[in-house]
Amino acid sequence: MTEIFRGTFTQQEPIPDAAIEAAVRVMRTGRLHRYNVAGDEPGEVALLEQEFAAAMGVKYCLAVASGGYALACALRALGVGHGDRVLTNAFTLAPVPGAIASVGAVPVFVGVTEGLVIDLDDLAAKADQADVLMLSHMRGHLADMDRLMEICDAAGIRVIEDCAHTMGARWRGRLSGTDGVIGCYSTQTYKHLNSGEGGLLVTDDAQVMARAVMLSGSYMLYGRHLAAPGPEAFDEVRYETPNVSGRMDHLRAAILRPQLARLAAQCDRWNARYRAVEEGVRDTPGLTVVDRPEDEYFVGSSIQFLLLDWAAEKVQEVLRRCAARGVELKWFGGAEPVGFTSRYDSWRYAPSQPMPATDRVLAGLIDMRLPLTFSVEDCRLIARIIRAEAGAVWQGG
Ligand SMILES: *Cc1c(COP(=O)(O)O)cnc(C)c1O
Repeated sequence: MTEIFRGTFTQQEPIPDAAIEAAVRVMRTGRLHRYNVAGDEPGEVALLEQEFAAAMGVKYCLAVASGGYALACALRALGVGHGDRVLTNAFTLAPVPGAIASVGAVPVFVGVTEGLVIDLDDLAAKADQADVLMLSHMRGHLADMDRLMEICDAAGIRVIEDCAHTMGARWRGRLSGTDGVIGCYSTQTYKHLNSGEGGLLVTDDAQVMARAVMLSGSYMLYGRHLAAPGPEAFDEVRYETPNVSGRMDHLRAAILRPQLARLAAQCDRWNARYRAVEEGVRDTPGLTVVDRPEDEYFVGSSIQFLLLDWAAEKVQEVLRRCAARGVELKWFGGAEPVGFTSRYDSWRYAPSQPMPATDRVLAGLIDMRLPLTFSVEDCRLIARIIRAEAGAVWQGG
């Protein structure tokens, strides 16, 4: 009997009851704007910021409208502007180069390794080309953050971390987003917390946070923040920083706070699913599992494997055969951008040089989401299907 998988790769879990109740409470007050609070109530957004800062072990946090907004806000807060060059990953998603372009800056792409992390040799070689790195921990793969920070510190490069896929992950025990000057997170539906849209930005730098708060649209109400520096940090900044509105509202914050409380448990659930798929596809001929470094605690909300040096038609055949059995795989090697996947050379607003080693990895890179609506048993079934279909194509069957 041919096994078929019947789950939906884009179906997340429902919002928890406590979050729904909190959202209803906010709606009953009519006070949805973050600065619309009664008396001395702090408001959901300020509380979320305080709780997220505590969870990440940082001083300051700002909640914003989206992950992409957080990235652009981070660039502006560091003074990146028109014509500046910003180092970033060749393997990432469109909001990353998009954030760079949105402030008039120019991405300088750094290659990807077979381990799916930023190529640190390529980074070192390009370190003199920019003084900011927007580091995307793409699909949750953490580079050697010790060596990366050494390279950047030596070159005077400030690091913004895009943690859209690493909220809750750690490198040698340090939470992702806390090595660079700024860490940015997304709370969009497909990420580790779900408020539909939303973003968070963290830093220990008072001036950077003061600028980010003003940028986000605080007017002169920054005193109501619970995870921002004191008024002295705003003395100059409040006159010099443009308002680029992108605040979070109480409704989303109310939905996020109960989810944040269970983040660590959710990460473990993702990893149980990840390990089930990983184990199931390991040792499939022609298929390379991406080995995870011991120093990395990752969050397996998606899984990648490589069909290195396969002909494009063969890769497409695997995708077709898996899709026919209900397993939705994405491919980063396609010439045309499809759905969420696109390549550095398809962002034509940004200049790029050919990167043969990166192209080889992307040409074989298969990506699959692992929503928590899948059981561990579902993941074993998915792995059996991938193993059978990739194996059949490999053998020319
Ligand atoms: C989702 C995502 C973002 C941006 O998040 P949005 O909240 O959708 O704007 C940034 N980087 C990566 C790698 C992402 O996947």
